[in-house]
Amino acid sequence: MLKPHPSAMHQRPTASTISGRSDVIVLGAGVVGVTTAYSLARRGLKVAIVDRAEGPGRGATFANGAQLSYAYTDAFGSPAMLKKLPLLALGRDPSFRIRATVDPDFLEWGLRFLRNCTSARFSRNTRAGFFEAAQRIIQERSRRFSDEELLSRLSALLAEKGWLSGLVIDEIEDMPSSSTFRHRFGSLVLAYQLVGYTPSRDYRYMG
Ligand SMILES: Cc1cc2nc3c(=O)[nH]c(=O)nc-3n(C[C@H](O)[C@H](O)[C@H](O)COP(=O)(O)OP(=O)(O)OC[C@H]3O[C@@H](n4cnc5c(N)ncnc54)[C@H](O)[C@@H]3O)c2cc1C
Repeated sequence: MLKPHPSAMHQRPTASTISGRSDVIVLGAGVVGVTTAYSLARRGLKVAIVDRAEGPGRGATFANGAQLSYAYTDAFGSPAMLKKLPLLALGRDPSFRIRATVDPDFLEWGLRFLRNCTSARFSRNTRAGFFEAAQRIIQERSRRFSDEELLSRLSALLAEKGWLSGLVIDEIEDMPSSSTFRHRFGSLVLAYQLVGYTPSRDYRYMG
């Protein structure tokens, strides 16, 4: 978070007073704003966080119960949800609000939602969600490095170890993961070839 000069402690920072010193201004010092700012700062950007409250974490983040809600990674539409729908529609669950209208978009969405509440679709949609999330993580990790940077790190590792494998790559703390190389160059073997390494065994079947 931007640390104000002591003389400015009681002044509220404004975009115009801090933008000269920052590449990015994040609005809101809740968990989302703070982690966004942290992630940007790790990429080398100068970040300032502005909040209308007196300190960080005064909004919803303040009341957070610190519960890791693993179930919420599942698709929302499920046979269990179907059973709960009458109660939810009557507004009996304080954590759920739905404003039913005759808007055709809402009706179409509602029908699609109901169709996705079967066991088979719940399972398929949940797995698709995990797959997409994993792909996003791999892409995000890979995005931080240029092709040249990736190959130069792989070259250095080859020089140090004398050979390469997915395991060797993944064991190095600060190294992009083997999936990053797979994703960027099509396969690990293709990445190896670019740094002049040919595995003694035929790994092509591993893609
Ligand atoms: C009672 C309660 C319990 C919870 N328990 C859990 C839990 O156990 N597990 C879980 O995962 N989640 C839980 N949550 C949900 C979780 O806390 C929120 O999803 C999360 O904190 C949202 O973070 P945020 O940064 O988006 O919002 P906030 O923390 O609300 O941050 C938004 C910030 O933006 C600032 N702001 C708003 N408008 C402006 C503006 N115009 N200019 C400048 N600043 C502005 C606000 O002051 C605030 O500081 C809970 C929520 C509540 C309310």
